[in-house]
Amino acid sequence: MSKLALFGGTPVREKPYPLNITTGEEEKGEVVKVLESGILSVFEGANTEYFLGGEQIKLLEQEWADKFGVKHAISVNSATSGLYVAVGAAGIGPGDEVIVTPWTMTATATAILVYNAIPIFCDIAQDTFNMDASCLEKLITERTKAIMPVHLFGHPADMEEIMKIAKKHDLMVIEDAAQAPTALYKGTYAGTIGDIGVFSLNSNKIIQCGEGGIVVTDNDELALRLRLIRNHAEAVIATGMEVKSLVNMLGWNYRMNEVEAAISRVQLSKLEDLLIKRREFVDYLNEKLKPVKGIITPVVKKGCTHTYYRYALKLDKSKIPIPGEVFIKALRAEGMDFYPGYEPLYLQPLYQRKIVYGNAGCPFTCPYYKGNVDYSPGLCPNAEKLRDVILSTEVVRPPLQFKDMDEIFEAICKVVDNVDEIASILK
Ligand SMILES: *Cc1c(COP(=O)(O)O)cnc(C)c1O
Repeated sequence: MSKLALFGGTPVREKPYPLNITTGEEEKGEVVKVLESGILSVFEGANTEYFLGGEQIKLLEQEWADKFGVKHAISVNSATSGLYVAVGAAGIGPGDEVIVTPWTMTATATAILVYNAIPIFCDIAQDTFNMDASCLEKLITERTKAIMPVHLFGHPADMEEIMKIAKKHDLMVIEDAAQAPTALYKGTYAGTIGDIGVFSLNSNKIIQCGEGGIVVTDNDELALRLRLIRNHAEAVIATGMEVKSLVNMLGWNYRMNEVEAAISRVQLSKLEDLLIKRREFVDYLNEKLKPVKGIITPVVKKGCTHTYYRYALKLDKSKIPIPGEVFIKALRAEGMDFYPGYEPLYLQPLYQRKIVYGNAGCPFTCPYYKGNVDYSPGLCPNAEKLRDVILSTEVVRPPLQFKDMDEIFEAICKVVDNVDEIASILK
């Protein structure tokens, strides 16, 4: 048995992992064309022909809509902005509650707070780590306006159940599909099932333009509202654009530029190939890891496909009797890029101390808010418990190769083989 790097042995991997470089000559060619045109953006926050942006923006939006089979695709400068425009367009505001998962990137929930509404956290399922739809109904009150599932790590949320409950209670569904472009849920793309879906094009995501996002919807009215909030709504309306309701018609500048749109178009054409690579790496690792004691490989539910934005393994604590944190520390000492599960969002100081706007506790103390949300530890037991048994990595992607997967396998086996020694030291 070789000595763990944690205890002074030689690490399995010595060199750092390469960044997520997904662009190449094709993107370069398209960027040069945009630069040669000199037109880097033509967006205007007014009711003019430039309200919808320039050529590359319009082409990207059309191509995205075609690819995903949606009526409207709306580009934005990040998925965070995309989530903000989505909650705004949905008409959510002070006094409202929105149900969201605590296991997500922070922006899914801040999008709710930005509109002075209250995030209500729904516990997660033990297998996919997505929102557990069976917890939803008891969280619904007369204040609930929407449900925001996240397709975590690239596995679709339980959309059939979520849509059924949303219909029954007349709630909007805003899907955070940042990690799951073209993940299939029973034949339909994640992100295109609810009222609005949001995708990310940031530099860590499966396809990327540096910073960017896309919001999709089939609803014409929502699409107009999304486009307005993206681009100085109030000023556009003042210059004659008609809109049914002024609710949340306060705009920002969340516009993407022509260079980013040109890059995103090429990236979209590469998406399928990038996913093939990820799935090959994951299949390879799953096969190797299946017989390893105490390591549980990712679940893919019937009718679903997984985009593997992150590859998440679960520790069987009956066979690996050490804290997940220590297991990860040992893996990281071996040069591996593994992280624990998410810390449930409600444990952040913002929620624990309920301070967002000003120092008076808004929006939690807003007089329009008639509820009394509780974010005490213990709120979502699975979310809290799973943090300690999940280890996840994003390095199942190009430019890595199968030999890098072999290293991941080797490092995991090395730590598993030494678990007894680690446990005895911890005693
Ligand atoms: C990355 C991510 C976001 C935010 O994306 P940006 O484009 O960086 O703003 C939101 N939600 C989830 C689940 C993400 O993974």
